[in-house]
Amino acid sequence: MLDEKCIFCRIIKGEIPSAKVYEDDWMCVFKDVEPKAKVHLLAVPKTHFKLIEEAGEDGMEMLSYMLTKIPAIARENGCENGYRLIINQGEDAGQTVFHLHIHILGGEKLGDL
Ligand code: AMP
Repeated sequence: MLDEKCIFCRIIKGEIPSAKVYEDDWMCVFKDVEPKAKVHLLAVPKTHFKLIEEAGEDGMEMLSYMLTKIPAIARENGCENGYRLIINQGEDAGQTVFHLHIHILGGEKLGDL
């Protein structure tokens, strides 16, 4: 289920352009528009939910599927020597887009947070 007001749902639907590097029936991966590392991708499930606790059984299955796909996607996009995954959960964490997403950061030696 997608939300017509959500920017990531609109990217998934192709209404807003993005630099997609991977897509299948369950997930979409595109470049972050304001990269915080040499490689900065966002892995986004093709169902709209804001937080892990809102994912439900289907969402958790989707997240688990995404985690199985991310290593190869990261490797193929310049993260051969490792990468960092981040999920910002809520305002204190700095979440700005309220459609759950996994940041994939790498392509260089990352510093501390
Ligand atoms: P978060 O702060 O965890 O909610 O992350 C949201 C991320 O989405 C930020 O790193 C933004 O730079 C990124 N972002 C926002 N709009 C777009 C967009 N249209 N295309 C790609 N990345 C975006």
